[in-house]
Amino acid sequence: ARQFFVGGNFKMNGTIKSITDIVHNLNNALLDPKTAEVVLSPPALFLLLVREHLKPEIEVCSQNVFDKPNGAFTGEISAEQLSDSKITWALCGHSERRVILKEDDTFIASKTKAALDGGLGVILCCGETLEQREANQTIEVVTTQLSAIASKTKDWSKVVIAYEPVWAIGTGKVATTEQAQEVHAAIRKWLGETVSKEVAEKTRIIYGGSVSEKNCKELAKQSDIDGFLVGGASLKPAFVDIINAKQ
Ligand code: 13P
Repeated sequence: ARQFFVGGNFKMNGTIKSITDIVHNLNNALLDPKTAEVVLSPPALFLLLVREHLKPEIEVCSQNVFDKPNGAFTGEISAEQLSDSKITWALCGHSERRVILKEDDTFIASKTKAALDGGLGVILCCGETLEQREANQTIEVVTTQLSAIASKTKDWSKVVIAYEPVWAIGTGKVATTEQAQEVHAAIRKWLGETVSKEVAEKTRIIYGGSVSEKNCKELAKQSDIDGFLVGGASLKPAFVDIINAKQ
């Protein structure tokens, strides 16, 4: 069985004080590491602070990673530097970086490869816009985004795929359980056909987009939903309920 996986993506939110409070809250929460693997993704500035204070069962994830090990790349952070700092995961392909920072599939594939080669786990995000969903292009868009990665990545053992429909991110408009399950099943089918049956069986496919303590239990019951990537709600005490959605 695939272990449930929950990521908290703080995006560009938080202060030393508010993030320290979240860390203490999680340290004191009743979490069962056997039930759910949890990773926290604060802004880069706070990665070391979080790693220093957070209990070791919870891993820390960078919101970004560059595709070179070191050099003259102002503002960027490499997989090697993250690894050295005990930051063991990176997000790649988030829609906010695709849209606002203009990252394309080729660059995302290159970053994913660099992160994996540097020893990190990768939460690889994919998802369609509202326009693409309404044009019935959802599965095509998502599998095209993933194909770019598959062309450069052979080892999927440290990849978690996050399906995040763009129209559901930060909007309060969560995908229905049926909509999410349908896309997750299609991604698993694609993995089976493109990579291998074993990878399809083992890879966690998590859902992101307005996940809350109210909708997480129903979503978690779906056979192909293996966890969540949580934005807004990961900044609130209710994040603990989302982590425990499977209990
Ligand atoms: P929200 O949970 O705030 O909708 O954000 C989802 C997301 O983008 C997580 O990466």
